[in-house]
Amino acid sequence: MDTTATLVLGTTNAGKLRELAELLSPLGIPCCSLAGLDAAVEVEETGDSFAANAALKASQQALALGRWVLAEDSGLVVDALGGAPGIFSARFSGAGATDSRNNSLLLERLAALPAAPRSAHYACHAALSDPAGTIVAVSNGVCGGLIADHPAGAGGFGYDPLFIVPEYHRTFGELSPAVKAVISHRARAMRAIIPAIERSLHPGRPPAGER
Ligand code: IMP
Repeated sequence: MDTTATLVLGTTNAGKLRELAELLSPLGIPCCSLAGLDAAVEVEETGDSFAANAALKASQQALALGRWVLAEDSGLVVDALGGAPGIFSARFSGAGATDSRNNSLLLERLAALPAAPRSAHYACHAALSDPAGTIVAVSNGVCGGLIADHPAGAGGFGYDPLFIVPEYHRTFGELSPAVKAVISHRARAMRAIIPAIERSLHPGRPPAGER
């Protein structure tokens, strides 16, 4: 396999991987996960922002692998909680956090603030690193919503059963993957970085939309 033309998706989160692979599939650029890459490292998310963590994940993984890496850092930002869980979304409920524990804690925190607004947004920051660890492109996307009183639907992952998309009056847990692939924070961030991925990995080749 020509690894110089393959994009490594720098995440071990199965939900993210599924969505990223789907969002990038029209590109015609082979993508692979970190699974089975012996040189892959566990990157510590020591940044204080989504953007900083996305850059860390992309550049450190790329350096370790000597490959092009696309990474993203994402999370849920809840207004009534001062922006929490934010960059700590994956580990909101502490060591051994699971989606279901995180969701329960979120409902608990909001139940303690009955008069507070339920507004929130998902944020996703993406970063593309070259094989030397240099970030060559970044992007971001947001998706606004409301936090439900109880989980609904089994689609998506993470906080999706609690995240109501106002336009649809449904949670991402209830909506189809096709809807999420158009309006999500991740979809928006990917659409914005795709031209840079095409230019970087296949310079000179016409973009997928023009082939
Ligand atoms: P990261 O892997 O450090 O970027 O953390 C991502 C975390 O944010 C996930 O584990 C989820 O808790 C949350 N998150 C990010 N994107 C989504 C989404 O699309 N749906 C639901 N939860 C999400």
